[in-house]
Amino acid sequence: MSSNTFELIGKYGDHEEILFCQDKNVGLKAIIAIHNTALGPALGGTRMWNYKTEEEALIDVLRLSKGMTYKAAAAGLNLGGGKAVIIGDPKTMKTEGLFRAFGHFVNSLNGKYITAEDVGTSVNDMEHVYMETPWVTGIPKDFGGSGDPSPYTAHGVLMGIKASAHEKLGTDALKGMRVAVQGLGNVGSHLVKYLHEEGAKIIVSDIDQARVKKCHDQFGVEVVSPEAILGVECEIQAPCAMGAVVNDQTIIQFRCQIIAGGANNQLAETRHGEALRELGILYAPDYVVNAGGLMNVFVELEGYSPDRAFEKTRKVYDNVKKVFEIAKRDNIPTNIAADRSAEERIITIGRLKQRHPGKSNRAFTTLKEVNNR
Ligand code: NAD
Repeated sequence: MSSNTFELIGKYGDHEEILFCQDKNVGLKAIIAIHNTALGPALGGTRMWNYKTEEEALIDVLRLSKGMTYKAAAAGLNLGGGKAVIIGDPKTMKTEGLFRAFGHFVNSLNGKYITAEDVGTSVNDMEHVYMETPWVTGIPKDFGGSGDPSPYTAHGVLMGIKASAHEKLGTDALKGMRVAVQGLGNVGSHLVKYLHEEGAKIIVSDIDQARVKKCHDQFGVEVVSPEAILGVECEIQAPCAMGAVVNDQTIIQFRCQIIAGGANNQLAETRHGEALRELGILYAPDYVVNAGGLMNVFVELEGYSPDRAFEKTRKVYDNVKKVFEIAKRDNIPTNIAADRSAEERIITIGRLKQRHPGKSNRAFTTLKEVNNR
């Protein structure tokens, strides 16, 4: 790590706690970052990645943990933001010992940080973490876990699309509306199913032709090439593939009135939010729209019920609407309004908690109960 580690940490946010974890016996090098626990325990997945430098890993965990604070707050959940990174190649370095050692470190935080799977880690890895600590979600269904979050994420995206359509087009009935879906993976494929049920006219694209064929055969959707999807004339673009889909090159291509999809980090830079506003395109901020998966995990902390998780994802509609209200109130782009919505909640509820410190968080209590069983 560089000699100015604290300076670097300060640059990426006002984090509460950062834990550097090392166990030479199993080759573990990890960093856990707790950004903010004003609303509840810091929840965020564990990413395993072959970072080129330790500094790169630190920057990643600082950024990602801060993002989780905003996502949970804007979702209306009693959760804070945290994240962990394990430095190493997920293809060659994974062992039971490594994840159990990591579980020890998670356990040492006593529930202030709750982990889950993320890029490079799997349900199987989380099972090993779970052997050492109860502070883990995304465990298999047999253990009371919630399983694959994508159907819930996709249902939340549908709610985000409806809220945006209501805002921009005056109706949230999607029948006959043209919706372009980029990416037919876990989220995109479920979204297409929901859109089909709504009677939308769906246009899709994926670089994986097998996925395109399956979707076409199942729902009779219109198919365009990956190069053409963003320029499709439609009411709604729903990016469900990779990030930075709105950038200096693509922004001139859009022929839609709304962008609302499941992909993370859709704006290449913050300024692209303002650029979309100038073009008259309503942007539904990604982390507000795609919070259904996180809502699903939250229900796991309370004691899992698929119906309750599904019901909870309906809240995305109100959350997106609230962001639009703030954008109008303060005359700011919607991406900035999303951050403001999250910050306002953290300040209001954080103050409330200071005044009433006796109230404990439900997620905390329930996981403790799990531990005692
Ligand atoms: P996935 O890997 O299952 O699916 C992504 C799909 O996009 C793949 O089918 C891939 O072939 C396709 N793709 C990649 N590049 C493309 C391109 N240029 N044009 C068209 N298609 C392309 O991933 P996922 O789990 O469905 O997640 C999709 C996005 O949603 C990601 O940005 C992810 O971070 C985000 N997200 C997912 C969840 C979840 O619950 N899975 C939750 C929140 C956010």
